Amino acid sequence: MTTMNDMTINTAISYDLPPAFSGRHLIDGEWVRSAETFERVSPSHGTVVSVSAQGGAAETEAAIVAARAAFDSGVWSRISGKDRAAVLLKVADLIEANVERIAIQETLETGKPISQARGEVGGAADLWRYAASLARSTHGDSHNTLGPDMLGVVVKEPIGVVSIITPWNFPFWILSQKLPFALAAGCTVVVKPSEVTPSSTVMMGELLVEAGLPAGVCNIVLGYGRPVGSLMSTHGDVDMVTFTGSTAVGKLITEASAGTLKKVALELGGKNPQVIFPDADLENAADAVTFGVYFNVGQCCNSSSRIIVHEDIAEAFVARVVELSRKVKFGDPLDDSTQVGAIVTAEHNAKIDGYVQAAAKAGAKVELGGGALAVAGLGSQFYQPTVISNVTPDMPIAREEVFGPVLTVLTFKTFEEAVALTNDSDYGLSAGVWSNDIHTCLAFSRRAHAGTVWTNTWMDGYPELAFGGVKQSGQGREIGRYGFDEFLEVKSLVMRVGRDSRAPWVDDGAQ
Ligand code: NAD
Repeated sequence: MTTMNDMTINTAISYDLPPAFSGRHLIDGEWVRSAETFERVSPSHGTVVSVSAQGGAAETEAAIVAARAAFDSGVWSRISGKDRAAVLLKVADLIEANVERIAIQETLETGKPISQARGEVGGAADLWRYAASLARSTHGDSHNTLGPDMLGVVVKEPIGVVSIITPWNFPFWILSQKLPFALAAGCTVVVKPSEVTPSSTVMMGELLVEAGLPAGVCNIVLGYGRPVGSLMSTHGDVDMVTFTGSTAVGKLITEASAGTLKKVALELGGKNPQVIFPDADLENAADAVTFGVYFNVGQCCNSSSRIIVHEDIAEAFVARVVELSRKVKFGDPLDDSTQVGAIVTAEHNAKIDGYVQAAAKAGAKVELGGGALAVAGLGSQFYQPTVISNVTPDMPIAREEVFGPVLTVLTFKTFEEAVALTNDSDYGLSAGVWSNDIHTCLAFSRRAHAGTVWTNTWMDGYPELAFGGVKQSGQGREIGRYGFDEFLEVKSLVMRVGRDSRAPWVDDGAQ
């Protein structure tokens, strides 16, 4: 560990990297290669860490046909919730038995710290167990108040074939926010991981096969947005697309799916504020702000990329965040103690820097960082912890998703002003409020336009609690019972029971 520019940097450790992972498609229970392949170069280590089959229209078509046939056969969609739960629980156990192997590959492809990757992979098992509980406990309604000879039953049925399209920032975790819930509902699926991070999804496929999931129920196609993702969004045999990724691609998917009117669930970007009132526990708030902005190098839909802090405490609060920022351990993701790793691609590193330089040019003050970071032994695809004050709400850095370790500071005088700044955004994923006054916290929580509001904490999540956004942060919900319900259709069974005492509609003179 060294300190550079007053920051804490973990230099390269010595480590024997595993051989490059070889990724294949999983189609109708078979592992399939393609004539073409694509490579992933580790953002931190600069070496090829996976070589994957590159799917095209033919592989995607085959996967969708397999998912359709498996769904229609009833081999999964019509078996009992108990039997579906048994497979999901087995997958959860297998995930726990394979954490280290999956986490290392996840770290090498994403650049995230190994301790975090272990937490995400191991933690995903709980999502599978929760989904297993839903497989057995879901039910509809009965209506016994429709009259003496009528009974109504509303049943829930799996929606059908689901396309699952995932991003690169939390490949295994986001897959586990979708896949076990779709499977618990009885759906069959086609999954496309990001071309940047394909391998942990293939590893998941291996676990599904080992757990005994019938062939064709989960199909995986590796490749790019076009043609794989786009065909998954337009194909007539697909009933629903669930997508996590950028708002721009979310809009393309909505357009593409319109031709077949399939259901679309979207988890998109955010520009999430933490609002700090002067009566808050400022030490806890500063720690949570530091965590919120640097977690996953800020490449996180839930990044608290802007703080809105009361002007009376702004200077001292920012000084404390800067002080804490210098102590966060940036550097080699394979070092157990590293907290913040590499930036996903060189182009993205340049994009982050573009926002920072433009803000500085427009009059913002760079309190800390503000440039790419070279880590001894690993190269320069890292970015410094960066704090920027004197930001005005109209600057792109205050409005757009920077997706880097960059905190922007806005200030407020009144409660109303804090609410207005919070809601002055195209996004509405999450927001946070810090105050020791429960009335302030509740009033803020009710007024914030966001899918999640955290009070005196940041980014806590539970499988039981729905997650998703409003405005351009998405539509639909994920996880929790609400997220599970997205994969279900509702059907009403309307039944006349007992002797039919109605007068006939046609008077044929018989009575
Ligand atoms: P991205 O939109 O570039 O790609 C996401 C996926 O879409 C990839 O698998 C990609 O191959 C695929 N894709 C690209 N073009 C497509 C097309 N035309 N049709 C179908 N699929 C296509 O996103 P990314 O860069 O991988 O991830 C970062 C983004 O994801 C950020 O905006 C972030 O906020 C968002 N995100 C949101 C959440 C959430 O839950 N709200 C969680 C994580 C990430």
